Amino acid sequence: MDTDTLRAHLRDLLGEAGVVDAADAAQRPAGFMRQDTVQCRLLARPRSTDEVAAVLRLCHAQRIPVVPHGGRTGLVHGADATPAQLVLSLERMNAIEAIDPRQRVAVAQAGVTLQALQEAVQPHGLAFPLDLGARGSATLGGNAATNAGGNRVIRHGMMRERVLGLEAVLADGTVVSSLNRMLKNNAGYDLKQLFIGSEGTLGVITRLVLRLAELPASQNVALVALPDFDAVAALLGHMDRALGGGLSAFEVMWRAFYELVTTPPAASAPPLAHGQPFYALVESQGADQALDGPRFVAALEAAMAQGWIVDAAVASSARECAALWALRDDVMQTARHGWPFTFDVSLPIAAMEGYVAQVQGALAARWPAHHCWVFGHLGDGNLHVVVHTGADGDREAVEQIVYAPLAPLQGSVSAEHGIGLEKKPYLHLSRSAAEIALMRTLKQALDPLQLLNPGKVLHDS
Ligand code: ZN
Repeated sequence: MDTDTLRAHLRDLLGEAGVVDAADAAQRPAGFMRQDTVQCRLLARPRSTDEVAAVLRLCHAQRIPVVPHGGRTGLVHGADATPAQLVLSLERMNAIEAIDPRQRVAVAQAGVTLQALQEAVQPHGLAFPLDLGARGSATLGGNAATNAGGNRVIRHGMMRERVLGLEAVLADGTVVSSLNRMLKNNAGYDLKQLFIGSEGTLGVITRLVLRLAELPASQNVALVALPDFDAVAALLGHMDRALGGGLSAFEVMWRAFYELVTTPPAASAPPLAHGQPFYALVESQGADQALDGPRFVAALEAAMAQGWIVDAAVASSARECAALWALRDDVMQTARHGWPFTFDVSLPIAAMEGYVAQVQGALAARWPAHHCWVFGHLGDGNLHVVVHTGADGDREAVEQIVYAPLAPLQGSVSAEHGIGLEKKPYLHLSRSAAEIALMRTLKQALDPLQLLNPGKVLHDS
């Protein structure tokens, strides 16, 4: 089918506003932290599950590959498309269909942004606790398709833990509506898990039932400086214990990252003096500020008495809490010297110090003028490593340095960003041959023509 005919068919299905030409699609703003462009044959914008199904039926009959798009905030080229492919954007499916305060669930279409849901449930005294820097553009469908993580995983889990049910459309247009609202449902296979984290390769998520949490009534945030890595690990255990389940974030910054985000042109002044090897942002959320505030401070004081903390800045207002978070979230500072290479790895906390030293040593040996910034969700075993070589980029050489040491540690080349195109060559470092073969079996069963987000996650078979 030529493009003009395809466009005409899509307009019949979706209306005039439902189809965007390739040239206009290419003008759309690039995704978060990425200067990519959307290449495609056409971009389709369905408004309902039925319209998604109709588009996929058409593409299935015509053997047209389809790349689903959420908010395009991913970091692994999972939404890249080629001029042969149709982009299927869920952006017009942006309705929150129901908020049930008694059951504590929300039902939303896939194109709702994370922030829109967070704000919509708040007046009900509820929270959607998944949170990440791209909240304003990242969509719930994309969050589920990539099993997004972010800043409060230590307390509330990744997206997988927040999805009770979902609806997805298969490659041939079959709608699988599995909009379960119950926390417990062991009636056979948990089919939603097929689609969560599969990056749009097994189906297109159209609607979700999401588990809400009670809105926390207190928040306490501190930035602390630590003398060595043993103190970092000790503080994590100590705070978790001392806060009685209230610990909601434990974000660690290696010295170079902390100094980067507290040095002009970064907006934040340093709340603590530079020069310590590690800094951590620690947060608790609870029920009563009058009780939780003193408990939080007492826990920090006990850590200081143990020598695990050498300096601390405790936020005394919501505004100061937000300012400490803004410092941690100011990852765009890593683009100061030019576009860097970003990585997202998981490994045991006990191995982190040695791993980072090994990576930094290898980078220094090859690129003396390099920058390497390390920070991340340490409580989850997840580090973000950002590298600027200080020379013409050699991404593959940096990838080898960052990824190779993970295999013997049984770490992961992708903690929370997914595989996309970018990490596909390294999937075998974190997954066994039998695991990859089973992934292929699933792909073959659900999408035998290889039409859904082709080439992502797995090599074409
Ligand atoms: Zn992260």
